[in-house]
Amino acid sequence: MKYIGAHISAAGGVENAPLRAQEIGATAFALFTKNQKQWASPPLTQESIELFKQRCGQLGFPPCSILPHDGYLINLGHPQAEGLARSRESFLDEMARCQALGLDRLNFHPGSHLNEISTDECLRRIAESINMALERTSGVTAVLENTAGQGSNLGFRFEHLAQIIDQVEDKSRVGVCIDTCHAFAAGYDWNKASGLFADTVEPLSDADQKGAVVARGLENIIDSFDSVVGIKYLRGMHLNDATKPAGSRVDRHAPIGKGEIGAETFQKLMEDERLDGIPLILETPEPEIWPQEIAQLKAWANQK
Ligand SMILES: [Zn+2]
Ligand SMILES: [Zn+2]
Repeated sequence: MKYIGAHISAAGGVENAPLRAQEIGATAFALFTKNQKQWASPPLTQESIELFKQRCGQLGFPPCSILPHDGYLINLGHPQAEGLARSRESFLDEMARCQALGLDRLNFHPGSHLNEISTDECLRRIAESINMALERTSGVTAVLENTAGQGSNLGFRFEHLAQIIDQVEDKSRVGVCIDTCHAFAAGYDWNKASGLFADTVEPLSDADQKGAVVARGLENIIDSFDSVVGIKYLRGMHLNDATKPAGSRVDRHAPIGKGEIGAETFQKLMEDERLDGIPLILETPEPEIWPQEIAQLKAWANQK
């Protein structure tokens, strides 16, 4: 079965998220377990933790249907010692919060080199940061999200994700979340028939340039992910259409079917059983239509 939902507000306490998810017809949800714009937040109260677990149980949200997201300030590949230490401390807190809530995965953006260190060095730091957090927690998988490649953010190529995973010691607790909009912006054009580019795919060595298409067509993209990273590492997806063309390197989400990716790709994804059993999360810009978007995705998945 497919777990389909959206990134839900946890305002007023994490225990409110499962209620809000159920209200919009979701069978999955994402949330921040603390204020995503601050380094530190007060610890979760025991009451909040118990209520969260109780409601998730009652409303039918198993841990594998929930994809918490870490805060925006964290950069696990930070070029400077102080920023790196702060990020690692905050990430460890995020992992510990997930563990306390009985959750089994934490979604995060890999990190940025800020044009101060090489890609290889940044990816090495990210892996080291993950190793440190995994050593000090248990039961929670670190889930790397692919990025659009804006600024100096790494993770816009499947090769980056593979290079990080290669250096993670406990491979049973590292995974990947593919964001459809980020992939598209990074040059993974889900649409084979797209008329925007020539039929040939750019050679890999040129693909770091803006506007380059690295893979075309849903099957090719999933195959490429499987051969470069491994489909067994897929622990979630973010379902977002994109307002900018493939390869733009600009991250702008659009409602499903209202962007450059188009409805057909999402229909095919919902029919793909390789996406069963993991959280599939909308981060689309019009929360008021989430109930309709979820209903449409469910219908494509042939689920109620
Ligand atoms: Zn995302
Ligand atoms: Zn995004």
